[in-house]
Amino acid sequence: QAKKSGRNKYMMFTPTMNDRAVTRQSIEQALHRALEKQEFVLHYQPKVSLDTGTITGAEALIRWQRPRHRLVSPKQFVSIAEECGLILPIGKWVLHEACRQAQDWLQAGLDLGQIAVNVSPMEFHGKNFLSGVREILNDTGLDPRHLELELTESGLMQDSEQTAATLLALKHLGVQIAVDDFGTGYSSLSYLRNFRIDTLKIDKSFVQDIDGDAGEAIVRAIIAMGMSLKQRVVAEGIETQHQLAFLQSHNCKEGQGYYWGRPVPAEEFATLLAGKTFKC
Ligand code: C2E
Ligand code: MG
Ligand code: MG
Ligand code: MG
Repeated sequence: QAKKSGRNKYMMFTPTMNDRAVTRQSIEQALHRALEKQEFVLHYQPKVSLDTGTITGAEALIRWQRPRHRLVSPKQFVSIAEECGLILPIGKWVLHEACRQAQDWLQAGLDLGQIAVNVSPMEFHGKNFLSGVREILNDTGLDPRHLELELTESGLMQDSEQTAATLLALKHLGVQIAVDDFGTGYSSLSYLRNFRIDTLKIDKSFVQDIDGDAGEAIVRAIIAMGMSLKQRVVAEGIETQHQLAFLQSHNCKEGQGYYWGRPVPAEEFATLLAGKTFKC
């Protein structure tokens, strides 16, 4: 009987597990090739001042131009890249390309504000992270004050002594630090006391809950906390006029979202930078 059910289990579960492993492995191999063949591309989404409608910065977001595929979203490959360690060279490429592009725009006289780059916990805790940032800033000539690194709460929770040292070194360089997806990490708030954080990015799930009471209360609390800690607060995922109006009436100063536009390729973003301000 036991043997029989064991066998049934085998029949029921293994084929899908195997499929998944095979898919994962083939994505991993394809990611290796993608790095060599430079199939990655960055799109840029504006951060907008909720007071004036001007662009205060751009977030760089990776996409994969996989041959014979539609543009692949980071949700489909970043976690795999993290698991197999490929996020280290990919992240380095992202940082270099984003800094190079930002410097290009600044030198063309475009008022970019800051370029924001997402950094995985594995990259941030890697022993070469800091030297990599320095090297890239040197290489591209970008003034560190134009660079913001977006870290998640989980990245800030690990190994707090090393985290503190890295954050301090970045501060000395003049690089800004943002907490991405703020409020969704399984973490305490104590890192806000111990580390110098410049920006809180309210996770889009809260912003999209603004129509519900809980969402409104959480958003208001994050804005109030950011203000008293003298941090910038950026609301992610603004899609509607109603969400925008709520954030404005509660003194949130910056936002990002499909309300103004999806992330776009560099050439299109340059047109946005050169153009008029957004409605707000
Ligand atoms: P994230 O850093 O929180 O980026 C915001 C995500 O929300 C982006 O998705 C953006 O396109 C999307 N978004 C912006 N406005 C709206 C909106 O109004 N509504 C909705 N529903 N979504 C909106 P994307 O580009 O697919 O990136 C997903 C995640 O992948 C990012 O979340 C980030 O965690 C990760 N990621 C993207 N690029 C990189 C990268 O270069 N390195 C690393 N390590 N992670 C990256
Ligand atoms: Mg981000
Ligand atoms: Mg986010
Ligand atoms: Mg995220």
